[in-house]
Amino acid sequence: MKYFKFLLPVLMLGLSWRLSAQTDDFIIEQVADQVYAAIPKRSEKISATSTIIVHSRFLTVVEAQTDQTRAKALLRAIRERISALPIRYLILTHYHADHVMGTKAFLEENPGLTILAHPRTREAMALDSPTDEAWVVSWRNYLRSRIDEPAPTDSLKARQAGLRAYFRHLSDSPVVLPTLTVADSLTLHDVSADLQIRYLGEGHTTGDLVVFVPQARVLITGDLVHDFEPLFFKVSPDRWIGTLNRLEQIPFDHLVGGHGHPQRGKAVVGYWRSYIEEISGRVREGLRQGLSLEQIQTRSTPETLRSLLRHDYGRRIQQAREAAMTPTYIGPLALAVQSNIAAIYRIYRAQTLH
Ligand SMILES: [Zn+2]
Repeated sequence: MKYFKFLLPVLMLGLSWRLSAQTDDFIIEQVADQVYAAIPKRSEKISATSTIIVHSRFLTVVEAQTDQTRAKALLRAIRERISALPIRYLILTHYHADHVMGTKAFLEENPGLTILAHPRTREAMALDSPTDEAWVVSWRNYLRSRIDEPAPTDSLKARQAGLRAYFRHLSDSPVVLPTLTVADSLTLHDVSADLQIRYLGEGHTTGDLVVFVPQARVLITGDLVHDFEPLFFKVSPDRWIGTLNRLEQIPFDHLVGGHGHPQRGKAVVGYWRSYIEEISGRVREGLRQGLSLEQIQTRSTPETLRSLLRHDYGRRIQQAREAAMTPTYIGPLALAVQSNIAAIYRIYRAQTLH
């Protein structure tokens, strides 16, 4: 009883802290001095982790969220939990819908906003540009196809209702193009927190930017490194590894990726590199032996991949997938590995055909 009396206020304090640290859609976590991460909670929306940097007289936000509804929820969380200062810079690490489609809400709240991205990100976002990455269209088509799938159980019905709401929110969110492009690097000097925006090479897309806050030793990496498994589109895995090697040279103690929770230290960069090296090696070897995609996939289950067994990395990805349950990250790790291998197979095949 004596202990209980002592413990109860401590437990209550813990509970109220947890409640106060959570808003409707986001968990707000302080990463270091002047830097906060807003981690989306489990949802039918594929939503990015945003980072908020508190400068001396204004804020910078990295990642604009997946639609205006989510962006407005993030703005509320920022105002309630972090700061009332105006947002002067919004940085889009790359062009994918889950990172950019909430931009209009930021602009409405902050009319003087500057929206930064790599020139290739801007180009991919401009729908009339001659790019084959019709990103919003293909994302909407993908969601449509999931909505139209049969939903025999109540949980699947609930899931599809969530996806339908997401589809509506996305359709209500216009594309807002970046107003300032950074092809190489840009440094903003500030008493509280400098910003170093840098392009380190191709990886997840051809225009991934990273953001380093030197005073806080925080690196924000977009989808070049994060909590889940990497997603491959058109860039060769070999180039991505080169970019990871450059990224690792930056003197950071904390890493905030484009999805999931912030990480301490650089270990996650090593996990990604070993995984990318191993599965791309399997695909290269399979192609050399004349194997089909299915044969390569059958031989490359998670149990056969050393990079996933080491440090229990496969289980970490699995846990992150289960925690998020977004339309992209669904199902067991084996499926993730299969789709990674299929994407790399397509990339290597396209290279040899050219
Ligand atoms: Zn992405």
